[in-house]
Amino acid sequence: MRSFGCPRCRAAVSFEALTCPVCGARLGYHPPDAQFYVVQDKVADVGGIAWSECGNRSWGCNWLVDPVTGRSTCAAATFVRKRPEASDPVGLDKLADTMQWLRRLLYQLQHLGLPMQTYRQKDGALAFDLLSSITSGQPVTIGHANGVIQIDLAESLDDQRERLRIRLGEPYRTMLGHLRHEVGHYYQSILVEQPGGARLEQCRDLFGDERTSYSDEIARHYKFGAPQDWRESYISEYATMHPWEDFAECFAHYLHISDTMETAAASGMMLSTQRINDYAGPAISPRFDYSAEPFETVLSDWDWLQTFFNRINRSMGKKDLYPFEINDVVARKLAFIHQVVASAQSPVQQPA
Ligand SMILES: [Zn+2]
Ligand SMILES: [Zn+2]
Repeated sequence: MRSFGCPRCRAAVSFEALTCPVCGARLGYHPPDAQFYVVQDKVADVGGIAWSECGNRSWGCNWLVDPVTGRSTCAAATFVRKRPEASDPVGLDKLADTMQWLRRLLYQLQHLGLPMQTYRQKDGALAFDLLSSITSGQPVTIGHANGVIQIDLAESLDDQRERLRIRLGEPYRTMLGHLRHEVGHYYQSILVEQPGGARLEQCRDLFGDERTSYSDEIARHYKFGAPQDWRESYISEYATMHPWEDFAECFAHYLHISDTMETAAASGMMLSTQRINDYAGPAISPRFDYSAEPFETVLSDWDWLQTFFNRINRSMGKKDLYPFEINDVVARKLAFIHQVVASAQSPVQQPA
């Protein structure tokens, strides 16, 4: 993600900022420009047009609302199909937390140029059902079906999520990770699974035949676990379950890697490989846009960066930031996703 500044005093502000930490200006984020504007009396002047604050601002949304939509809430809210009732303050509190991650996801999809129609615009397009298994008392399965992504807001509770992470033996489990994984299912369905397309054949060669029974595979996975040698061909144990899960896991990693590299570049980071290892090598600078680069370039830059970030985390007494290994087989899968994303890019990209 790029770096953001306060339009009044130029101080660095986070993507989630409601006010400037230095000058105190009230801020609104304008998604089309990907920049902040000062808000006064609930509106921001964007080139002579008044964009208003989002109706969800009281629980943390800093996005501005396009006046032509006639809506009271921002573009991010238009993706949300179901959410906890207004009478459920605990559920709404978790919703606020999850929406921060959802806005981050939407930013990235927009900047990668991926199609972003919502279910309101087209049947089967993107929708999010954000429900809580705790406050509703009903099980909420995280998953994707026909454009609808269901998320259990209970996973925004650290203890809940961490308990599941340990039980499932995962090295990494986050709300943003869930969103990136589930949206991978959606993009596979609309960008890859076109009957008879060459891309579908290529996808099957890499990830396996997605027509394999999902219910049989899920039963096998939860009974026997991942095969012993899963590391040779998969990014995670969960990816071994079914070709669809392998694609979604790789798609999530593609988003993890591209966002982290963009953030490093936007933060002015420059790596001297000589300093990382004991052998001489050129200094590299992460790029803002890898869409036109061969995938080997992405991976070789990432290799340096993840080494750096993992060492930083260890210095803070934490485990690796990126506790995964990308072998040649996984690299080919990621390269395929890079191709799918690059060829889906359209010049005009705005969330609805
Ligand atoms: Zn400021
Ligand atoms: Zn909003």
